[in-house]
Amino acid sequence: MWIKILLVEDNPADADLLAELLELSVEVQWELVLVEFLHEAIAHLSKQPFDVVLLDLSLPDSSGLETLTRLQQVAPDTAMVVMTGLDDEAIALESVRLGAQDYIVKGQITTELLVKAIRYAIERSQTSQMLRESERRFRAIFDSSFQLTNLLTPAGIVLEINQTALDFSGLRSGNIIGKPIWEMPVWTHSPNVKKQLKEFIAKACRGELVRSEIDLLGKSGQIITVDFSVKPVKNDTGEVLLLIAEARDISDRKRAEAEVLKTLAREKELSELRAKFVTMVSHEFRTPLTTIQFSAGLLQDYSANWSEEKKCTHFVRIQQAIKRMTELLEDILVIGKIEANTLKFKPVPLNLEKFCRQLVEDQQLNDSNRHAISFIFEGGNCEAQMDEKLLRQMLGNLLSNAIKYSPEGTPVYLYLSCQKSVAIFQIKDSGIGIPPVDRERIWETFYRATNVGTISGTGLGLAIVKRAVELHGGTIAIGSQEGVGTTFTAMLPLICNSIQSQDEPL
Ligand code: ADP
Repeated sequence: MWIKILLVEDNPADADLLAELLELSVEVQWELVLVEFLHEAIAHLSKQPFDVVLLDLSLPDSSGLETLTRLQQVAPDTAMVVMTGLDDEAIALESVRLGAQDYIVKGQITTELLVKAIRYAIERSQTSQMLRESERRFRAIFDSSFQLTNLLTPAGIVLEINQTALDFSGLRSGNIIGKPIWEMPVWTHSPNVKKQLKEFIAKACRGELVRSEIDLLGKSGQIITVDFSVKPVKNDTGEVLLLIAEARDISDRKRAEAEVLKTLAREKELSELRAKFVTMVSHEFRTPLTTIQFSAGLLQDYSANWSEEKKCTHFVRIQQAIKRMTELLEDILVIGKIEANTLKFKPVPLNLEKFCRQLVEDQQLNDSNRHAISFIFEGGNCEAQMDEKLLRQMLGNLLSNAIKYSPEGTPVYLYLSCQKSVAIFQIKDSGIGIPPVDRERIWETFYRATNVGTISGTGLGLAIVKRAVELHGGTIAIGSQEGVGTTFTAMLPLICNSIQSQDEPL
């Protein structure tokens, strides 16, 4: 066996004695380098590797345990055997605690003892080097894992924490090692989470594997959802020695799941809308088409013998049916634009009193005088800047609903009052009213209240009204009592700008 020894000894007599003892050994071949000063030893160790250092702690330029620690800094993997005097046993033991592989007491050294100490020291040093290497490898895996990992005592005290967990929580290992895991700031956002964690630790301590999704608080205040588990590590007799607490960030997965659910819900909503649309269109178009077919058929077969008045009745029916279908198509087009967010808003100067008076006249004509429709102007400056087409659709829908949902002979009113910068429109009827359960939802496309009975309709009108009010930057409210009547009150700014955002709230 060839051993390279660095002898650090300032006493020439002791150095000679050691060299002679080594000479007597037949088992080892050696190369001995002798130095008297610590700085010389440091210089040698920095330049070339030695198998072992035989070290006297008291040197001219260093003394005591510091001599050992300074050499260890230069050559952490080299075996060190400390040489002490007869009365220095305590310091010898302390040096072993600090990492020296062995010590020998000067004056008691024999060749056999010396060789044994050197060989054991080298072996021990190699073993601890391998251990350190293995520790380094495992530490690297432990630290570079994407999981936040803690090694705990069964009572939940942190023994080890990996770099990922430190980075996430903004802690340094010194702040948390030796403390209960629930003192980490990541658990502080909710007393419930902390309580849950303590229950998990207690369960794992009884030997159970615990796993759950849980929220953690990161150092910059972000909350992430993690797949959290506490695994017990047991010995051969089943006793729990350690707990491994791990947390894997699943926020992205959760977000993706939520996104998929949202898309599915939207898809479902769209397919329901499509189904409702097809039902509504086929139903709402069939009635006027039947009227046209019926009246046209009668006119063709019998008009030769009919009075002019009777013929006229059927022509008017056909015209009304066509008008109804045209309005329906117009509503469908507008709803399509609303859904695609492409409905244009073009305000123009408008005298609201004139506009409303005309609208009421048209409605009165359409209604064939079944209701008394009154326009009441309550005053104010009614020169406005609004989108004429949208306003017509909005008030037209509200008026035709008021007519449609109230019994023949009952009055319908449109009130207009212009105050400062606001125009207030009120459409009042004495009809069936809107049940409270339906009031929130009647603005939705295709939604119809539960009391409509056989009164036909599409559920499109109020969705158009809502969007028209939004585009004008106004508000609308409903006052209604079942069996008594309904009043819609819309408040719109008198002057609306065309640049107004299409997405302003109602
Ligand atoms: P519809 O074509 O069914 O009238 P709307 O969108 O115009 O569709 O109205 C939605 C629902 O609101 C109607 O189906 C009806 O239930 C209710 N509604 C609207 N206006 C009135 C009103 N003046 N009186 C009673 N119910 C009304």
